[in-house]
Amino acid sequence: MKKLSILLLVFIFALCSFADGTLFLIKDSNKINSIKEQYPLFLQFGNELIIKGSKDTIKKLKIDNPPSKDFYGELFIMKARDPKASDLLNESTEVIYMYNGFVLFSAKEGYDVLTKDHQTDKIQIRKVEFPEVYSSFREKNQVDFDQNIEDVLDTIDMERVKANLERLVAYKTRYTFTDEYKQCASDMKDLLTEIGYETKIQEFTSWYGKGDNVIAFKQGKTDKKILVVGHLDSTSEKAKTLAPGGDDNGSGSVGVIELAYILKDIDTNLSVEFILFGGEENGLLGSYGYARDNELENIVGVLNMDMIAFYKNTPNTVYIETYEFARDFIYLVADCVKLYNDIETEISFHAFGSDHLPFLKKNIPAVLTIEKEWDLNPHYHKTTDDLRHISFDYMEKFIRMNTAALLEMDKKL
Ligand SMILES: [Zn+2]
Repeated sequence: MKKLSILLLVFIFALCSFADGTLFLIKDSNKINSIKEQYPLFLQFGNELIIKGSKDTIKKLKIDNPPSKDFYGELFIMKARDPKASDLLNESTEVIYMYNGFVLFSAKEGYDVLTKDHQTDKIQIRKVEFPEVYSSFREKNQVDFDQNIEDVLDTIDMERVKANLERLVAYKTRYTFTDEYKQCASDMKDLLTEIGYETKIQEFTSWYGKGDNVIAFKQGKTDKKILVVGHLDSTSEKAKTLAPGGDDNGSGSVGVIELAYILKDIDTNLSVEFILFGGEENGLLGSYGYARDNELENIVGVLNMDMIAFYKNTPNTVYIETYEFARDFIYLVADCVKLYNDIETEISFHAFGSDHLPFLKKNIPAVLTIEKEWDLNPHYHKTTDDLRHISFDYMEKFIRMNTAALLEMDKKL
């Protein structure tokens, strides 16, 4: 009798510990395409594939001993550009895999994050569905190298970029709802006026308070226009008193300003608006405000630079993202990355967490260009995000690709 109850207990225990599935991690980039053709239960992150299956699956796909992990409960994917996202993971969740702002985790029944008001533009959580490509690399070229564009790119002045970044970071904070931010916005408006543009401060209102967007305008031969944008505001653990925001997003802001310099005397078909948004860190407030308060119908594209100067391991890849409908636009940007910089481009159609979003939601093609390893930046949203961690060489590539993309777009008119 005793023996039997022990057996029964062992049996019940075995039942309880049955996993709900097994995931395998495939890092061999040469195998990705053939596996995708044969087997649908995959998630792709760049050159890495996660497949759901059994040992049999692995045998059939002829993969040698990939690392595997059992999971319990349901699978979720979180996309987050906010360090606070980790607060949403708790004892009923288990993180399985992290990649470039995507967090794959399992959660026990009853995990109710989907019903909470945690679905913001900076943090989104969805149940996993197979198959899904979260990002991939692109090789093809649709656009050809153009010496005229290269000549314009040669006028980029990285000493000037550096000086402007120093000028920005000299403000103790650029947290949107501070006097310092207001002063900085007005300073950047003056700078854009000096370059020779018509400029204005456009105030946006939001549930959080009022804030300033800085706008400079270049009239082209037509009223069709392209927006070059980046957020000027910064944040940190002491946002109201100390937030240098060198990489996030002093880098993108001075990128926008450098495009303003070099395009000043170039005749373009497109009109251009150079915009420094406020309130990005509080929920994309400035860009939502802009998209709400302005006529959008002439906009043919939006180029957003956010965090373009940091790398941890290697500066040989840039990450660009949009939504599926803007496929042509992002491929054009990808071509410009390749033609005018000798680096790799990783593309994602899962855009989130920055100022391209309000435009994408209104069906306007918008592309974010961002450093590949932004999620590995230990100074992200910290008081230590200063000039010590900036790579001006890496940053120059972003300025080049965005300028080239703008000029290619201009040729299409
Ligand atoms: Zn940012």
